[in-house]
Formats: sequence, structure tokens, C-alpha cells
Amino acid sequence: MRAAAAGSVTSAAVKTVGKLLAVFIDSGKVSTRDVDAPRRPPGFALIRLRVAGICNTDLELQRGYYGFSGIPGHEFVGEVVESDTPSLVGRRVVGEINLACGRCAFCAAGMGRHCDSRTVLGIIKHPGAFAEYLTLPDSNLRLVPDHVSDEQAVFVEPLAAACEILEQVSLPAGTEVAVLGDGKLGLLIAQALLAHGARVTLYGRHAEKLKIAQRAGAVVVDSLDYPRARFSFVVEATGSAEGLRQAIGMVRARGTVIMKSTVHDQVSVDMSPVIVNEIGLLGSRCGLFEPALELLSAGKVDVASMLSAEFALGDAPAAFVEASRRGVLKVLLRHTHTS
Ligand SMILES: [Zn+2]
Ligand SMILES: [Zn+2]
Repeated sequence: MRAAAAGSVTSAAVKTVGKLLAVFIDSGKVSTRDVDAPRRPPGFALIRLRVAGICNTDLELQRGYYGFSGIPGHEFVGEVVESDTPSLVGRRVVGEINLACGRCAFCAAGMGRHCDSRTVLGIIKHPGAFAEYLTLPDSNLRLVPDHVSDEQAVFVEPLAAACEILEQVSLPAGTEVAVLGDGKLGLLIAQALLAHGARVTLYGRHAEKLKIAQRAGAVVVDSLDYPRARFSFVVEATGSAEGLRQAIGMVRARGTVIMKSTVHDQVSVDMSPVIVNEIGLLGSRCGLFEPALELLSAGKVDVASMLSAEFALGDAPAAFVEASRRGVLKVLLRHTHTS
């Protein structure tokens, strides 16, 4: 992660402010350090962080997945302070996290999120957003409408991941979908699918979290008694290997299990029902930002109820402790310095 994007354009706007604060993960420890202003390669924007969100992926990076060492953070809202695109300067933006090469077959097909040589903001070889300043290509940035608050816009990236399901499977209005897991992603998925017109049943274990989905129109079930072979679509978002086994048990013959949990360990699953019942297993990851921005802009997703706590960027170690406590939903980091 220390291999910051190479570039030679000097960041005049922040050069004068001296050392800047950034959060680091190294050997399982979260710390803050003083860093130089990031260099802005041509075609990139220099962005001043406003608010960032801690995601389960960040907690996993801390636990050592991907052998990560560097500046994490991929959910953010910021303000462009320098760019080769004058219309971006001074604007509030969110940013697609995959930095694609723009030249390979995936990129040519509009699937830069699957580009083989991509880097990923705060995850793979591009310094992340838990820093006072970050860089991203101009082409990754999306303007945030004025009436969408920072605290809403910081959910664009995870909500885009929820909306990805709708890019992958056709769900006509009224389709019954089960969502397993009432964590941050499960709640966003339930709400995105409801806004799309699906009938959603959310299975979870936390009454407070289930209420958020219930208010949005979901049927909620606080139980370990999962129905057998009942749904044509089951979205697994529990974050656990057990969730996948349950999802396979709940899906009907010829149905589809959509796998949203990034499970890192090997998962042992009895594959015979998958084969005999001709069940489709579909992996699902990042999504397009536009549908997520539209949902937030139209007020169709309640993210305010999902905010658990807020910390200054400099208090990131405490923020990570809070974010990993059971039952806690979204923890924000705010850029509070005057730099
Ligand atoms: Zn995330
Ligand atoms: Zn590419």
C-alpha cells in the first residue's frame, strides 16, 4: 500500500500546510501518522476528506486480510481541491473505488470493476480515504447533489454494492426475496430491493436493526428457524460461512443464492442440494454509484438510522474499536483539522 500512485504534479493547494494526518493499519494495529500531501498524477483529483465511513472490510484489513499495510478507507465524501477538470474543483464528490487501467478487455466492456490490473482505494495499492487528503482519477468521481448530506453520501459506496444485485439478476416488481443478515450491508440491500419493488423478508438477530428494515417495508424475522426451499432469491449478507449454508437451504429449486458476504476462510458446504435442485450461486461485490446516488437523492433509503457513532480522524484507533463492537452499525470519521 505504500506504493502510492506515481505522479509528478505538485499539490500546490496543500503544500503549504505541512504534515497531514493519515490513518495507518500495520500488523493489525490502527494508528495515526503525519504524512506528506499525496502527489496528484495527471488526470487525478486531489480531494480534501469531509467524512469517511468504517466498513467491515476495513476491520478485516486490520485482522490481516490481503496482507494489508497502509492507509485504509474507501467510503468517503470529500471536496475537490485540485483537478485538471476545472468544473470539479470546489465540488463535493464521492468516488468509485476501483482504479481501472482503461485499456484491457474488461475496461473496454465497461467492467472496470473487474479490470485485472486495477488498484482499489484503501484496499489494493492505492492509499485510502482515512486521511486528510486523498487522490482518485477524475473519471472515478461523482458529484453529490446539494440536498444530499455528507452523512448520507458516505453511504453511496456500500449502497452501490447493494444495488449491484439489481444489475446481476432481474427482479420484476413483487418478486419475493429473502435477505439473510441485518448488518449494514443487509439493511442497505433490503432497502435497495424494496425501493426497486421487491417484497423483502429480512432474517436477522437484532431487534433494533430489524426495525430499520421494517420501517422501510420489509417483513422481518428474528429467528434461527429458517424456512426450507421457500424463496426463488436469497441474498446472503451475514458475513459468516454459516449464512451460505442457510441460504442454500432456503432457496427453491432453480432459485438463486446471491452471495454478498466476502468470506475469506474456506467454506465447507454440502453441494448436493445445489446440484440436484439446480441452484445458481452468484457472487456479488461492488456496484455502480449512479443508482445509489439516485436512491439517496430521492430519499428512498434511510441511512440516518444506521449511524452509530462519529469520531475525529485523529481518533481513528478508538473509532475502529467502536466499529468492531457487536451491534454497532456505521461509524464515521470526520476531517476536523483546518488543513
Ligand atoms: Zn466497504
Ligand atoms: Zn483494465
